[in-house]
Amino acid sequence: MSKQKDYHIRNHIPQPIRSDGAGTVDDGPRNIMRDLQNPDLLVPPKTDSGLLPNLRFSFSDTSMKLNFGGWSREVTVRELPIATTLAGVNMSLTAGGVRELHWHKEAEWAYMLLGRARITAVDQDGRNFIADIGPGDLWYFPPGIPHSIQGLEQCEFLLVFDDGNFTDLSTLSISDWFAHTPKDVLSANFGVPEEAFASIPDGQVYIYQAEVPPPLIEQKIQSPSGEVPLSFKFELLKQPPFKTPGGSVRIVDSTNFPASKTIAAALVEVEPGAMREMHWHPNNDEWQYYLTGEARMTVFTGNGNARTFDFRAGDVGYVPFATGHYIQNTGSETLWFLEIFKSDRFEDVSLNQWMALTPKDLIRSNLHVGPVLMDVLRKEKWPVVKYPGFSYYPKK
Ligand code: MN
Ligand code: MN
Repeated sequence: MSKQKDYHIRNHIPQPIRSDGAGTVDDGPRNIMRDLQNPDLLVPPKTDSGLLPNLRFSFSDTSMKLNFGGWSREVTVRELPIATTLAGVNMSLTAGGVRELHWHKEAEWAYMLLGRARITAVDQDGRNFIADIGPGDLWYFPPGIPHSIQGLEQCEFLLVFDDGNFTDLSTLSISDWFAHTPKDVLSANFGVPEEAFASIPDGQVYIYQAEVPPPLIEQKIQSPSGEVPLSFKFELLKQPPFKTPGGSVRIVDSTNFPASKTIAAALVEVEPGAMREMHWHPNNDEWQYYLTGEARMTVFTGNGNARTFDFRAGDVGYVPFATGHYIQNTGSETLWFLEIFKSDRFEDVSLNQWMALTPKDLIRSNLHVGPVLMDVLRKEKWPVVKYPGFSYYPKK
């Protein structure tokens, strides 16, 4: 190897060597692009220790399902085995592209990333729901409620289902049911001749290309039973955020989106140099989706176990129930991510708040912390929170 090439490798390629000298160069087979994206896997902080399962999976490492009319890919328990509570599907539809009429046993929560789509649903009492969804809007379909999605323009969204075992590829679809029902039964069911079904699809359609639908007003169907009593749509990005030094948060759960009985979420913004403070959730596991920026998170599971992961847009993160964590913005742009829970309520316990509301003698004798931290806690600014349990982003 030439001296020049050697210099290049030693200086521009990250090496598994910590600042204290631990580790040594990796000149063997390696994926340098991956190493560059995972500085905290290549050189974990000295505080990492013990065994923790993998807590990250990127949608970029999943297999795309390509259809005429759109695509989909999913992160389920098959990709990220620890993620048993929730599964995620990333889907894009063309203008006119349709995710066909279908239903499933799991509740469906969705966040529109880009573009616009029209959703339809009918409930068990014959009440319907048809609405147009734009960027930053959510929808929620309860378990078993039939629905569809159609792109009004090129659009992309995140779907979250309240079971990690879910797969969007084996839902109950209208085309699949028709294809597996005898034609004489279809004829009897609808009271029309069998010829009406001569050209039905021979199996599940899943996604197909159709014409862009006309304005909503022209497609609305007045049900004699009326609309669903609880709207399946929620405009999350239009909700004023709770602002803190270093970021903002918008929380959506059954208290402000009553239809969403099994999924709670927070849309979190963290400015460059800031972090989502050390905290945990006393209700359930956390499923994360990173929208923009770069982040790192260490998850502490007790008994000396802690492991750090790096994240960027399109990654899924997972935090087991009640384990401690923080999320740092490690990039130069604003970090946006979703925290999603299989729960009717968003709940979080702040480390800062806990310590500020605990007798100071206990904190001092327990942690042997100096007067600087004690002064900060004494100011007791953390107990003054506008949103219960969600408090503060300390700036670095
Ligand atoms: Mn669905
Ligand atoms: Mn969290």
